[in-house]
Amino acid sequence: MSNDIIIIGSGIAGLASGCYAQMNGYNSTIFEQHSLPGGLCTSWDRKGYTIDGCIHWLVGSSPESGFNKYWKELHALNGVTSVYHDIFTTIETGTFKDKKTFIVYADTAKLNSHMKEISPEDSTEIDIFTSLIDKFSSFEMATDTPPELMKIGDFIKMIKTMKPYMKEFRMYRKLTIADYASKFTNPHLREGLTNILNMPNFSFLGLIFMLGWQNSRKAGFPVGGSLEFSKRIENRFLSLGGKIKYKSPVQKILTKNNQAIGIKLENGEQYYADIIISAADGYSTIYSMLSGKHTSKKIDRIYKTLPLFKPLFLLSIGVKRDFSSHPCMVIKHLQSPVIIEGEKHAKLGIKHYCFDPAMAPEGSSLLEIYYTSDYDYWKKLSQTPDLYNREKNKIADTLIGALESLYPGIKQEIEMIDTATPLTFERYTSNRKGTFEGWLLTPKTLTLKIKKTLPGLKNFYMTGQWVQPGGGIPSAAKSGRDLIAIICHKDKKVFTTTN
Ligand SMILES: Cc1cc2nc3c(=O)[nH]c(=O)nc-3n(C[C@H](O)[C@H](O)[C@H](O)COP(=O)(O)OP(=O)(O)OC[C@H]3O[C@@H](n4cnc5c(N)ncnc54)[C@H](O)[C@@H]3O)c2cc1C
Repeated sequence: MSNDIIIIGSGIAGLASGCYAQMNGYNSTIFEQHSLPGGLCTSWDRKGYTIDGCIHWLVGSSPESGFNKYWKELHALNGVTSVYHDIFTTIETGTFKDKKTFIVYADTAKLNSHMKEISPEDSTEIDIFTSLIDKFSSFEMATDTPPELMKIGDFIKMIKTMKPYMKEFRMYRKLTIADYASKFTNPHLREGLTNILNMPNFSFLGLIFMLGWQNSRKAGFPVGGSLEFSKRIENRFLSLGGKIKYKSPVQKILTKNNQAIGIKLENGEQYYADIIISAADGYSTIYSMLSGKHTSKKIDRIYKTLPLFKPLFLLSIGVKRDFSSHPCMVIKHLQSPVIIEGEKHAKLGIKHYCFDPAMAPEGSSLLEIYYTSDYDYWKKLSQTPDLYNREKNKIADTLIGALESLYPGIKQEIEMIDTATPLTFERYTSNRKGTFEGWLLTPKTLTLKIKKTLPGLKNFYMTGQWVQPGGGIPSAAKSGRDLIAIICHKDKKVFTTTN
């Protein structure tokens, strides 16, 4: 097999790199450890239900969004409609006996008046909050030229684009969600905002971007779900002449004279190419596939100290009940708290997918309940598979019991139960500690740049969520696009794209 480029991993970053490589006349092959495309961007079928393990919102789903042009190039949304939610999330605050419901409307006018109903005394800050969202609703996340190739003209253009946002950027970039929430005097608003993403130390500006995309309806859910989305990009890659080898876990990246020259699979097979791209987990790429030979103090510090998106425990249930009249995503108080992984949980986050008929048989609903879990807890348990399985089932029972207290009779209506622990995410994608999105977007990582190359290694590049703090599907795709533009530039080729 002759290859110009070998790509490790068929997640969105690997697939996008492959598509743009093919568009630019490179002959590329992706090696993927699993039997399906998409990596984290996936779904799975169980007993007539489709469990969507990824997309909540996809930036660029709407043709109004600047990012949509990249999805067009990748054929990622061809023939698909997207669903835009009127409500981002609904959070019960206070206590079970004295609760209030904080509805995070996508529309800022509705959000503004709802927040003022909860807390007239916070009117001034509420106006500031919703006008910030309004302002950032028109913010476009990507510039066509990769940052690495920007010339003075591009910087001037970027500065001009950024100028209207700079004052707010400077004011808020160092704040976490929890920092900002503390500005409200009303305890319900404080609690609701702090827990809006269940990640209080997430960048506040990151949240504003998200709410802005909801308000401008630029980020929806593509009907059919995550795996279908990934398969359309896989299809685009194959139709451009790219090749994918599934069930091909890469064990080593082969190097000679400080140049990457190929890969060795776990089964011993070796493949060679002019350029090797890793679109796989960053830690295993650097410290295992390359044996830690091409790192630096900065890289080591990043991998030792930066926080990750904490992994999830995901319980999916198929129920013979129509949930379409309920809020699609709600965090509800429990009458009595439950103990899970040794911690008290007084609330339960529940999501249904009734907005997409592909997810459940007619009249039935797919429900997902997830919480932030502890990787080490499961890792330890997994040393005794029996204990691990028993704990998984015990937690599922506990959560179903809690659900029954909220929706009496639901237990009898369950047709399908599926559980995924942080180890499931790790086993499926090899992502470090089962993280679902790589580096957490904090005030520190908001402006952090991570290089796509490693010290002392030529013809090798990294792409995807491990070089794009904050992760996400659009970043993964853009990271692949940028990388091929960089490679074209190095090869003195004009980077071209097709639709
Ligand atoms: C529950 C959940 C919800 C999410 N919600 C959203 C959302 O609403 N919006 C959004 O934008 N993003 C969301 N994300 C995040 C998003 O899915 C990821 O950030 C993005 O898909 C990462 O893409 P990637 O290609 O960089 O990495 P990955 O998807 O991790 O792809 C890496 C690929 O490399 C393969 N691989 C790893 N090691 C090897 C090896 N040794 N040999 C061969 N192959 C290997 C893996 O199997 C995988 O296919 C969510 C993720 C999850 C799990």
